[in-house]
Amino acid sequence: MLFFDPMYFVFVGPPMLVSLWASWRVKSTFHKFQNVGVRSGMTGAQAAAAVARAGGANDITIERVGGFLSDHYDPRSKTLRLSPDVYDGRSISAIAVGAHEAGHAIQHAKAYAWLGFRSQMVPVASIVSNLWIWVIMAGMFMQVPMLVNIGVALFAVVVVLQLVTLPVEFDASNRAKAVLAQSGIVSTADEAQGVSKVLGAAAMTYVAAALTAIATLLYYLMIANRSNRS
Ligand SMILES: [Zn+2]
Repeated sequence: MLFFDPMYFVFVGPPMLVSLWASWRVKSTFHKFQNVGVRSGMTGAQAAAAVARAGGANDITIERVGGFLSDHYDPRSKTLRLSPDVYDGRSISAIAVGAHEAGHAIQHAKAYAWLGFRSQMVPVASIVSNLWIWVIMAGMFMQVPMLVNIGVALFAVVVVLQLVTLPVEFDASNRAKAVLAQSGIVSTADEAQGVSKVLGAAAMTYVAAALTAIATLLYYLMIANRSNRS
């Protein structure tokens, strides 16, 4: 049966372990650089505002939101929501994450194509991500290979979203690092290296999620192949 197929763990187990490692690493890196200040003495919220303004995103709102690493940019309301550690923090971690989120606001202001594509995909992918597994299971249960194929094709949409997320995330970090250096918010090589480490650790979680999605797709392609033959 599907639930106890050891092949599932052969495919998906390794990238899931990478995901666990990446999420542990982003937390430990964030905590490490939470104790390291910057000479400019800015908070994450101040850095985010300065980076957004310098990058041409002038009409955004910055709000405090609850949670840990819950920071995000909402393109619909042009709002940057920063977690308390980032909003109020005067550390390399706070500045790195605040500037990264401002990087998304800059992408939006500059009509960066991958961000636009990703925003259009999100509503579709969020419907599909709850649906695909049921379509595959129904296909297997009723022994209708075409349904299994449709389920796999639906999941491919989710995988595309994960892949499109990668250039968006890397680009936001690159914009953040460039503006932080130009504006003097980050002024020493040590500070810049700390920012790179925090943002690099965050990027790894997206890479791991994309790898997990690809491995899951390969597994279900194998299942579809099997059901098409039987
Ligand atoms: Zn991001």
